[in-house]
Amino acid sequence: MQRGTNLGRLGGYNQAVILDAIRRAHEGVARVELVELTGLSPQTISNVVRRLVDEGLVREDRKAVSGPGKPRTLLKLEVSSRFAIGIHLDPALMTLVMLRLDGEVVASARHEMPVVGQPDRTVEAMADRVRELIAETGVAREKILGIGVAAPGPIDEPRGIVVGPPMLHGWERVSLREPLHKLTGLPVLLDKDVTAAAVAELWASERTTPENFAFIYLGTGLGAGVVLQGEVLRGSSNNIGEIGHYPTQLEVPECYCGRRNCVGMALAFRTLIQQGIDAGLFPQDQDLSGLAETTAAVSRLCMMAKDGRPEAVQICDRAAGQLGAAVAHVANLLDVERIIFGGPLWDGLVDFALPRLRREIQDRFVAHAIHGVVVEGSGLGHQVGALGGACLVLDHALSPKASGLLLGSRT
Ligand SMILES: [Zn+2]
Repeated sequence: MQRGTNLGRLGGYNQAVILDAIRRAHEGVARVELVELTGLSPQTISNVVRRLVDEGLVREDRKAVSGPGKPRTLLKLEVSSRFAIGIHLDPALMTLVMLRLDGEVVASARHEMPVVGQPDRTVEAMADRVRELIAETGVAREKILGIGVAAPGPIDEPRGIVVGPPMLHGWERVSLREPLHKLTGLPVLLDKDVTAAAVAELWASERTTPENFAFIYLGTGLGAGVVLQGEVLRGSSNNIGEIGHYPTQLEVPECYCGRRNCVGMALAFRTLIQQGIDAGLFPQDQDLSGLAETTAAVSRLCMMAKDGRPEAVQICDRAAGQLGAAVAHVANLLDVERIIFGGPLWDGLVDFALPRLRREIQDRFVAHAIHGVVVEGSGLGHQVGALGGACLVLDHALSPKASGLLLGSRT
C-alpha cells in the first residue's frame, strides 16, 4: 500500500516514464524515439511533452536530421527548472548539497554538528542551514522539490523518526521529518544514510544494464546499502544493511549490542585509536573527548599507514582483513556484481586497504566461475550521504519506479 505524501511526483505515471526517458538521453531525444522507448502512444507522448514544456521541465532543443522526412526536434531536460536539497546527519558533521534535476551539484556546505544531545537545536540548525543554502544560490523557493535527510539508523520511517542511533547520544526517539517540514515549509523525506548512499551511486551510474551492488558505508558506524536488479532494497522497515554486528575473530571492545567480537567495533574510531595508543603511535593521554578529536586521530592513523609506518599499517591492515571477510558474506548473500566502499572513514583507508579488501572478498566469492565481483571505492567522496538525500528527492519526484514512492512525508 502506498502512503500519502506531501512530495508528489511531477505529474502522473506516464509523465514520470517520459521524463525519465528524456533525462537519460544526454544528447536529447525526439518524440518519435520516445514512442519506441516508452511504448506509449504518439498522442500520449505529444500531450505529455507539451505539458512538460509548458511547465518548464523540458525544452525543445536543436533539430536533428537523419534519413528522409522532416527534421526531428530533440527534447532535453531543463536541468535548472527544479532543485533538490540533501542533508546528511552524521554524529560529527552536517553536510548539505543542492542538486539540479540532472544530479549536478550547484551548492554544498559542511557544518560541525551543534550540541549533540539536544535534538531540537539540531533540527533548528538544519532548517537554518537550509535557508542559508537557498539564499546563497538565489534559487526560487518554488523550484525546490524538497529536502532528503540521510540519517544514521535505525529509523522509524512511517513516523519520520530517528530511533536512538548508537553515536547520537540523547537522540532516543527524535522526530525529524515533521519539525523540519514545519520549519522550512518544504516536503521532507527521511532514509537511512547507507540506503541514501546507495541511491546516490545508482544515480551516478552510467551502466545501461540493471545494477547489482552493495554500498559499504564506513563512518562512525558500519552499514550496507543494497541495490539489486536496479532497485534499491530497504527491507520491511527501511532498516536494511546492519552488518556492523557480523562476528570477527578478534576480541574487540564491547559493542552496544553487548558482544565483544562485532566487526563494527573492530573498525570503530575508539578501537583503532586505542590500538594506536598501545602500539605507541599516540600518547597514553590521547584526547578522545569528542567526535572531532577521534575523527582527527583516525585520519592521522590512516596517514601514518599510508606513509608506511609499520605499526599503523598493521592496525589498519588487520581492520581491513576483518572488514573484507565480513563483506564477503554480503557479496555471497546477495550475489552482487560490485562492492562499493565509501563514507567518511573510507577516504583515509582507501590507498592501502583496497588491495587487501579485494583479496579477502574475491577469494571468498562463491559464484566467481559465473561472474566476478568488482571491489572499488566510491567516486562520490565524503558528500555521498548528502548527495543520496538529494537523490531520494529526485528519485521520488522523477522516477516512475514504485519504490520511489515508498518514502513520504504526511502532513
Ligand atoms: Zn554488536
